[in-house]
Amino acid sequence: MAGVLRDCAPLYATGRGVKSIHSFCRFFGQDHLFPPAAEIYHLIKKLTRGSLLVSQPTHAEMEGSLSNSPLTPGIVANRLSAADYSRNFTDHEAPLDAHEARVAADRCYFCHDAPCITACPTDIDIPLFIRQIATGTPDAAAKTIFAQNIMGGMCARVCPTETLCEEACVREMAEGKPVEIGRLQRFATDTLMAKGVHPFTRGAPTGKKVAVVGAGPAGLSCAHRLAMHGHDVVVFDARPKAGGLNEYGIATYKAVGDFAQAEVDWLLKIGGIMIEHGKALGRDFTLADLQSGYDAVFLGMGLAGVNALRAGGEDKAGVRDAVDFIADLRQAGDRSAVPIGRDVVVIGGGMTAVDAAVQSRLLGAENVTIVYRRGQEKMSASGYEQEHATSAGVRIVTHAAPVAVHGNGAVTEVEFGYMADGPSGLVATGETFRLKADQVFKAIGQTLQGAPEGLTLEGGKIAVTGAGRTSVKGVWAGGDCATGGDDLTVTAVAEGRDAAMDIHAGLMA
Ligand SMILES: Cc1cc2nc3c(=O)[nH]c(=O)nc-3n(C[C@H](O)[C@H](O)[C@H](O)COP(=O)(O)OP(=O)(O)OC[C@H]3O[C@@H](n4cnc5c(N)ncnc54)[C@H](O)[C@@H]3O)c2cc1C
Ligand code: SF4
Repeated sequence: MAGVLRDCAPLYATGRGVKSIHSFCRFFGQDHLFPPAAEIYHLIKKLTRGSLLVSQPTHAEMEGSLSNSPLTPGIVANRLSAADYSRNFTDHEAPLDAHEARVAADRCYFCHDAPCITACPTDIDIPLFIRQIATGTPDAAAKTIFAQNIMGGMCARVCPTETLCEEACVREMAEGKPVEIGRLQRFATDTLMAKGVHPFTRGAPTGKKVAVVGAGPAGLSCAHRLAMHGHDVVVFDARPKAGGLNEYGIATYKAVGDFAQAEVDWLLKIGGIMIEHGKALGRDFTLADLQSGYDAVFLGMGLAGVNALRAGGEDKAGVRDAVDFIADLRQAGDRSAVPIGRDVVVIGGGMTAVDAAVQSRLLGAENVTIVYRRGQEKMSASGYEQEHATSAGVRIVTHAAPVAVHGNGAVTEVEFGYMADGPSGLVATGETFRLKADQVFKAIGQTLQGAPEGLTLEGGKIAVTGAGRTSVKGVWAGGDCATGGDDLTVTAVAEGRDAAMDIHAGLMA
């Protein structure tokens, strides 16, 4: 029964499905369902996490007064009612209240040699901050977190905890239910940030100046640690807003309510950091300019380029980079104005593919398919994220790579070839199939763009040793643009912080 319903969930999550299940339940009277009907209703609610469009149809839907619906062909805006947009883009995971946080904190064993600390890229003293919550001192807990990770508020929202601290938690090992470290971290950091309190003060001025390129997690974390030690920092960023992918990339439902900008404003309260917006390295200034004007340089410029599909017809209308789509969605004040296809195909297997696919569904696309060239176990999106996608009604097709994009001017279909694992890598089996598509998102990885000349590169990234030292003396790098990381927000924060400590040590020697 559950298997059949899992297959049916996407159908029920469409506008048509909403109406049919609503009529079905209304026919029997929702409070007096006979057992099979009640079971179906509750299983579907569970499969769609009770949040996705399986709801009472709105007045507008009943009246048929919406301009578009999930069934409207093409790439159009306004597929859902206002209530659906607002429900679909609220917090992915509700924050804990004070009582819930105390109860969750009480589950921690406060382990000696806690494995959760080792699994955290920023080495937060997790048992200590959980004990501080358990003893009713969340502000102290927040300070414990921020001492290691100044973007602990964002990381609490976006970290794949299921593959980091919570996977390592002894209660996960023993019972399959870890301490809710991420939600507890959010409770502590939100509590302190809501008071507008910045927990650190600047050291005495050193008279040293450091240039940071990129106001993403790596650059901001580096700038904050340098400012704490009394250095003056100027951060240059090519875009009009600071935050990097926290502002332009993270899925909307993970960081609601303009949290990324609030976090930047709060972080800058340390003082001594100036941000120059709209200033790009390579366009407005060179590395040599920075070397001559500053005592040290940190590069945290992320990966601004994207890989091409290398399939014929990828320049057709309707085909675009998933990161651009996500950035537009993040910047849209009104989600209903964001156009989305009826049949969306997302090509890729990482977090970006999942975020683009889930958000397409949340915008009202009827059919969304992720297509990945290898097996599901090789997808870089975690099992939890894959499950999140399928429970949102996204279909995942594996072992298929794009061959051609078809359509007369605009995409109508994508042709894929089946792939198999051979002894020397992936091989095409020769069999092909086509998926109907009016919109295609490419999510097949990002690339370093505009790295300054003279720096040694390795595997397409800036080669670093130790705490982010590049091949050029006086120039450090960290985050996505540098070797050694795993393209996560928390790792970028850790690398920015560690590079700052190394820069500080060098400047004060
Ligand atoms: C769609 C998407 C979703 C993601 N979701 C998650 C998630 O849920 N959880 C998670 O942990 N990680 C996630 N990640 C990864 C995470 O966002 C990155 O690992 C992290 O942002 C890297 O930080 P960074 O500071 O190195 O780079 P970025 O965040 O990319 O910041 C780089 C900054 O440098 C600026 N810049 C670039 N070139 C120049 C230049 N030439 N001159 C001046 N400035 C420049 C950019 O404008 C940008 O502000 C996601 C990534 C993507 C693409
Ligand atoms: S591993 Fe789990 S139980 Fe142990 S300290 Fe960490 S969060 Fe607490």
